[in-house]
Amino acid sequence: MIPYGRQDIQQEDIDAVVEVLQSDFLTQGPTIPAFEEGVAQFVGAERGVAVNSATSALHIACLALDLGPGDILWTSPVTFVASANCGVYCGANVDFVDIDPETYNMCPQKLKEKLERAAKDGALPKVIIPVHLCGRSCNMEAIGALAKRFGVSVIEDASHAIGGKYKGLPVGSCAYSDITVFSFHPVKIMTTAEGGMAMTNSSALAKRMELLRSHGITRDTDLMTHAPDGPWYYQQLALGWNYRITDIQAALGLVQLKRVDKAVEKRNAIADQYDQAFATAALSVPRRGSECYSAFHLYVIQLREPAVHKEVFEKLRAAGIGVNLHYIPVHLQPFYRDLGFKSGDFPAAEAYYARAISLPLFPTITEHQQSKVIEEVLASLE
Ligand SMILES: *Cc1c(COP(=O)(O)O)cnc(C)c1O
Repeated sequence: MIPYGRQDIQQEDIDAVVEVLQSDFLTQGPTIPAFEEGVAQFVGAERGVAVNSATSALHIACLALDLGPGDILWTSPVTFVASANCGVYCGANVDFVDIDPETYNMCPQKLKEKLERAAKDGALPKVIIPVHLCGRSCNMEAIGALAKRFGVSVIEDASHAIGGKYKGLPVGSCAYSDITVFSFHPVKIMTTAEGGMAMTNSSALAKRMELLRSHGITRDTDLMTHAPDGPWYYQQLALGWNYRITDIQAALGLVQLKRVDKAVEKRNAIADQYDQAFATAALSVPRRGSECYSAFHLYVIQLREPAVHKEVFEKLRAAGIGVNLHYIPVHLQPFYRDLGFKSGDFPAAEAYYARAISLPLFPTITEHQQSKVIEEVLASLE
């Protein structure tokens, strides 16, 4: 089976991990801050707070923005469940803004209309989480401007998008948001095995997230309520979690980070090949926005006919092509249906789901493998 995604681990990655294993610190040593600074520099953000997953990063990002019981969080229905679950973790009410059928990302027009209605009803969200699906940035200029106008905080879920650009700036610069979250799961653009990072230009938010990722505990005397009892002293100032990443993982991340630009270039070249091969086929290929350089975490095709969707998908799997579907609309998951959502709530997301297939896309895919994918896709449509 040719997988839809795969990590790229080289000798230099292995060497870096082994070096940490032989050092004094397996966790909470010097490599984590070096990794945080490395990613911050790469994306042009002031600060990075590394944690054990993007899910954890989303959770502490919401908490740092004071999302709590009774508050409201909006995200896209076409995303991994974690983008919505983080709101539920905080006791907030989660709702969705339907996608733009061209970009598959949160639609700024629908966001505008929903915000105007919510303002009238006195039910504005505290946080919105646009998701850069497949590695293509959302229209952050429009979303950022709306958020400002309505006094809403923005967390970008950029789990797919490190190495991508929007209007010439790296995704993660937080030019239009409060916090941007990356995932370093092995199927994503770069990996630390499990891992994630929250980027921000606010040192107050960074401090808050640092506290929350480790039990709410600080050893920083400036933050303490009184002078330390002695050299052993620490204080718990808030209720936090153990969301720490390890130095072993950070070492892997630092080496992977050096190859992100090359990896994303390769992903774009593979996407170009698909575009050419499918130019006259009975399917739609991803739209390339002139304002975006996609990180191409995923290459999603849309079939013309929903009626053959399942059959084409099954044919491809049977032919050894590890196609996948990103994503089942979150509001249709049983957990969210139990909260009151139903079919028909977000028609563009549901229409997307009825026709979408993710094709294999990863930097180490061989020409031969990609030719096979193309051949089987074309054959499956006949
Ligand atoms: C992978 C992913 C996450 C969660 O990432 P983890 O690091 O596995 O927790 C969140 N949002 C999106 C859009 C993702 O693709």
